[in-house]
Amino acid sequence: MFANRGLEIKTRDQIDKMRVAGLLVGETLELLRAAARPGVTTGELDAIAEANIRDHGGIPSFKGYSHPPFPATICASVNDEVVHGIPGERVLTDGDIISIDCGAIVDGWHGDAAITVAIGEVADEVTELMRVTEAALWAGLAAARLGGRVTDISHAVEQYVHGQGRYGILEDYTGHGIGTEMHMAPNVPNFGRPGKGANLVEGLALAVEPMVTLGSKETDLLEDDWTVATIDGSMAAHFEHTFTITPDGHWVLTAVDGGAARLAELGVPFGGR
Ligand code: MG
Ligand code: MG
Repeated sequence: MFANRGLEIKTRDQIDKMRVAGLLVGETLELLRAAARPGVTTGELDAIAEANIRDHGGIPSFKGYSHPPFPATICASVNDEVVHGIPGERVLTDGDIISIDCGAIVDGWHGDAAITVAIGEVADEVTELMRVTEAALWAGLAAARLGGRVTDISHAVEQYVHGQGRYGILEDYTGHGIGTEMHMAPNVPNFGRPGKGANLVEGLALAVEPMVTLGSKETDLLEDDWTVATIDGSMAAHFEHTFTITPDGHWVLTAVDGGAARLAELGVPFGGR
């Protein structure tokens, strides 16, 4: 079990606390999904997120994170921006897509999740990109089993995406362990051979987050030192959930329903409460 050295293993009570943080993140993202429409700025979405998190006793975990300190509550990444976009004056227009990543801390425990939302009418291939990316996230979650390994998730994400058509999967950014910090060991890549990495055990919480493009998997870091954009200008989508596995089944801590509906479609037992 040396592969699990240094991992944070949570008690059931601690997982319950992570659910509080995760649910706040999930509910915040649903507010933002409803608010994201033509004419709204990314900064307005950020203000909605910060108010909702603070009103419910949470702390926005992205604000002040790293160097240079991230200045906002959400990451707002539009069109060819994949992740880590900084919200501001940009006005969303018909045909855009926006990836919104959100994190919150409640009572010391973290939740982290992301969605990509269409603004008005988007091209069919872009709708399909979003569908494929979200379904790849769920395929990854479904591949996780107690007694399995982290890259079982990675492999399932990659297999799903490549089974749907020609897409780029980012390799320079990964999912991660999560708990008392947002980013913890182990990394959870979105590609690779199964059966490697840490053992999937009860009490481990992971954020799984495929980042998929309509073109190249290669990205540039923009001059703001945060925004990650595709080098070829192709559109990109990003979906993320924080989850854990209990002896009863999966619990998607950042899904409003705990993942119950989607897991049922996939034939995966629901382990939440
Ligand atoms: Mg995130
Ligand atoms: Mg994350």
